[in-house]
Amino acid sequence: MPENFIQDIITEDLKEGKYGGRVQTRFPPEPNGYLHIGHAKSICLNFGLAQANGGLCNLRFDDTNPTKEDVEYVESIKEDVRWLGFDWDDRCYYASDYFEELYEFAIQLIKAGKAYVCDLSPEEIKEYRGTLTEPGKESPYRNRSVEENLDLFRRMRAGEFPDGSRTLRAKIDMASPNLNMRDPVLYRIIHAPHHRTGDKWCIYPMYDFAHPLSDAIEQITHSICTLEFADHRPLYDWLIENVDFSKYGPVKPKQIEFARLNLTHTVMSKRKLRQLVERGYVSGWDDPRMPTISGLRRRGCTPEAIRDFCERIGVAKRNSIVDIALLEHCVREDLNKRAPRVMAVLRPLRVVIDNYPDDQVEWLEAENNPEKPEMGTRRVPLSKVIYIEQDDFMENPPKKFYRLAPGREVRLKNAYIIRCDRVVKDEHTGQVTELHCTYDPDTKSGSPGANRKVKVTLHWVSAAHAVPAEVRLYDHLFLSENPDEREDFMSDLNPNSLERLESCMIEPSVAGAPPGTRYQFLRQGYFCVDPDSAPEKLVFNRIVTLKDEWAKVAGSGT
Ligand code: ATP
Ligand code: MG
Repeated sequence: MPENFIQDIITEDLKEGKYGGRVQTRFPPEPNGYLHIGHAKSICLNFGLAQANGGLCNLRFDDTNPTKEDVEYVESIKEDVRWLGFDWDDRCYYASDYFEELYEFAIQLIKAGKAYVCDLSPEEIKEYRGTLTEPGKESPYRNRSVEENLDLFRRMRAGEFPDGSRTLRAKIDMASPNLNMRDPVLYRIIHAPHHRTGDKWCIYPMYDFAHPLSDAIEQITHSICTLEFADHRPLYDWLIENVDFSKYGPVKPKQIEFARLNLTHTVMSKRKLRQLVERGYVSGWDDPRMPTISGLRRRGCTPEAIRDFCERIGVAKRNSIVDIALLEHCVREDLNKRAPRVMAVLRPLRVVIDNYPDDQVEWLEAENNPEKPEMGTRRVPLSKVIYIEQDDFMENPPKKFYRLAPGREVRLKNAYIIRCDRVVKDEHTGQVTELHCTYDPDTKSGSPGANRKVKVTLHWVSAAHAVPAEVRLYDHLFLSENPDEREDFMSDLNPNSLERLESCMIEPSVAGAPPGTRYQFLRQGYFCVDPDSAPEKLVFNRIVTLKDEWAKVAGSGT
């Protein structure tokens, strides 16, 4: 059972027999963008708490704003929730399915003298609202008769009035210290088609009205939301108290707030993420640099790693910003257990083994995952010409460089010790284009001669067998830790967040791997096959490097 303050509330409610022992939560996204890792936290919390307490969690689209919402987003949200490993069974609901019920609730409030039609313009409403230090002013339309209000509200629905000309407002208290209680707007006129209800409606309920009452219709027991709604809770409670929804059941839903997730080096608001997509700074909502669930999935993160991350960050009542290195740490820990190791050379340097027989090919045994012997072995071909990593060689190495250099020996992983004899350079640029080496046939890995000591083991691939690939390396999307603090967050974009290496060489065991296949490339990190791959050229995303920045920050043992 998760340990957090919301679980404590639920435990207490269950002990007291509140709600007849039921626990019902919901995840209520607005379909106005793709889900991000912050939503993942909310999903894990809502579905996780329901699961842990024998309850149920609904998926509910909070689709009350026709101008910003789209079915594309609805579909992506369903896919992402499912991918994360959660299931709403047949309980996928839409606030728009309740438009008729919500309208009836509004009529109820009007009849009780608790709501009125107001003719102030949006600007005037704002002006009349007052400030934190000054009370608001009552609308001149506040004391309309019930009959007049009923008539006007029906005509609002019938489409008689233009956008912005009238609203329905709750009649609460213009002097309340809480601005949300100063006769909040419940309905506005928007002559725009809705992605589900089409042209049926031209008045749409406000989130603050639709949300608590949708919770009531679904008989949600614990309505979990983020901290910025704490100030809206009195209005939530007011609606729950002043609307009669008893025909849906006895449960009076309760709102509980928790701190939203923020991550370093990224932005999380859908509005800002949409800007990145629309202005072409990223390839789409699922660009592997995006903090979206679809981006993390395409990059190669597993749902298990994301759930583990959400568990570790816990649930707090104070906003904070989580180091993105912790997410990477969770991804690394998960992939370490499941990803097979392969050899991939990202920046190839050709090496000819002069004393290796011209036509010989040896298929050498290689472990798939030293941490998990049950993952077995595979065979890796060696031939006369191989590739190694350019930066594994230096012609004039400084003191602490132990890799290959003229006259030096290194071990080729799973193979032999080679010595560098000769360097070939481009006569114009002086760049090293090829090395000539000799191998020691007595040093084959696994043989008695394998014990001969050299300082370094390099990864390599056989040129004749290599699979060509493009590899995409990623860095943080934003340079500073908290781009939200900037006036213009776009100016903080990292110009080097994507590096494409187009001529990588990978061992043949990866040939034909479908998108989504994950590997550890020895010494390079974890990688995942991208959907951009074609049969003749694989494309890989680097998910994370092997270097654990989090372990360094947090100290070992975490
Ligand atoms: P954004 O500002 O990114 O658009 P939102 O709150 O408007 O987010 P919704 O679709 O309304 O997005 O959110 C659905 C649910 O996910 C809500 O319950 C919301 O509180 C929660 N949620 C959104 N962002 C985060 C976050 N960063 N951390 C935790 N929960 C979040
Ligand atoms: Mg929102």
